[in-house]
Amino acid sequence: MVHSEGMIEDCGRSGDIMAERRQLFAEMRAQELDSIRLSTYRTACKLRFVQKKCNLHLVDIWNVIEAFRENGLNTMDLNTEFTVARLEAILSTIFYQLNKRMPTTHQINVEQSISLLLNFLLAAYDPEGLGKMSVFVVKMALATICGGKILDKLRYIFSQISDPGGIMVYSQFDQFLREVLKLPMTVFEGPSFGYTEQATRTCFAQQKKVSLNTFLDTMMSDPPPQCLVWLPLMHRLANVENVFHPVECSYCHSESIMGFRYRCQQCHNYQLCQDCFWRGHASGSHSNQHQMKEYTSWKSPAKKLSNALSKSLSCASSREPLHPMFPDMPEKPLNLAHIVPPRPMNSTNDFMLSHSMPTSGNPYSTKNLLESSSRQEEEHSLIARYASRLASDAAAAQQQQRVPNDISFSLDANKQQRQLIAELESKNREILQEIQRLRVQHEQASQPPTCTSQQNPTLLAELRLLRQRKDELEQRMSALQESRRELMVQLEQLMLLLKTYGDS
Ligand SMILES: [Zn+2]
Ligand SMILES: [Zn+2]
Repeated sequence: MVHSEGMIEDCGRSGDIMAERRQLFAEMRAQELDSIRLSTYRTACKLRFVQKKCNLHLVDIWNVIEAFRENGLNTMDLNTEFTVARLEAILSTIFYQLNKRMPTTHQINVEQSISLLLNFLLAAYDPEGLGKMSVFVVKMALATICGGKILDKLRYIFSQISDPGGIMVYSQFDQFLREVLKLPMTVFEGPSFGYTEQATRTCFAQQKKVSLNTFLDTMMSDPPPQCLVWLPLMHRLANVENVFHPVECSYCHSESIMGFRYRCQQCHNYQLCQDCFWRGHASGSHSNQHQMKEYTSWKSPAKKLSNALSKSLSCASSREPLHPMFPDMPEKPLNLAHIVPPRPMNSTNDFMLSHSMPTSGNPYSTKNLLESSSRQEEEHSLIARYASRLASDAAAAQQQQRVPNDISFSLDANKQQRQLIAELESKNREILQEIQRLRVQHEQASQPPTCTSQQNPTLLAELRLLRQRKDELEQRMSALQESRRELMVQLEQLMLLLKTYGDS
């Protein structure tokens, strides 16, 4: 009896899976992304669509790493295979934690996000329906399609495909390409971006040893390796999505342009929105064979002039490096347990920063994140490397001021740093309280008005004010979250300094 019930459930479940899968791809088709002429833009748009549909654009690599740790993936061999149920548990952690970080008015549909993403991953990595996926595949796939900064994502990926000496293992990189190129394939872009035996060689020609910096140089260069060109573009798409250009599109005549803007280099003042340019639209004497320039921002003529002036006045090159330089040898992991003392938190402020977040009620979760952070783990070393880079910058700066061999000065500095840490910690507490206070206000502002009189102008004005206040509160909250994140980084850096000087 139990058996047959289970079977019915299974049938229903696989029916659901197929329906969800069809729904995702049907909605993608409805976007008419296939009419985009350039395969790179088409692929990036399709994967961005999938990412947003699953709400993964709200999740960065640090959130993903945290979900991996909660589910014990960091201690597993990369070739370990696990079941669909296990994969579902990881996705649950990701999306339940996401909702904890989101304001109450912007909660996502967790079940739907899990289901859509699970189905997309199964379509990509388990087309035969065997119900198994390796740890490596899950790590690489999620690290590639999550949101956040591409630099952080690439650093994580590198940590998974390099040896303990910080040198890339070619066969691992090849395996990474093999898996990651299944993402474009799943959105029907296999012909342009499918995996080939030559792919690895086209990325790293004649490179003997590929360190993290070389890896980042290659992946973030302009242009990036052909087979992965859609990946940085997906991030650029995301970055310009909300850029507003108060300019009319010369083809579709929409009053303003959002996203990329294209300007013809031949026709006077002929500008296109991204939708028109990508689809090859042209009108008047303009042809889609004309050279176009891509813009990611809009500057008023007055601002353009002042920029040109300041540029001509400064002699220094304004060109910034593509990415910060990282030490060649991976650093020893830092024990974060000292940095954020575990303090009780109530449910209204636990949507905050990952380091101090209590774990969810996930069946696979380890009891305490801070406890597990003392283990030596590859993911952890990423954070440590970042912190130590900051620390070494700070140490170098301090070195310059220091009187040579003056031990008392060093002790003094040590004391100062302890004070600073105490200050930072109290600042952190203040910010948390402020966030909690704002959150309450925000909830009040989000309440629908109880009065039904729609005609009352005073009420309408009040309502408008309330909405405005609500937007301000949301902005303030996200700014506070950002400064808290920065505070944490500062704390990490100081702890490391303290440790270094404390030992000497
Ligand atoms: Zn247009
Ligand atoms: Zn033209």
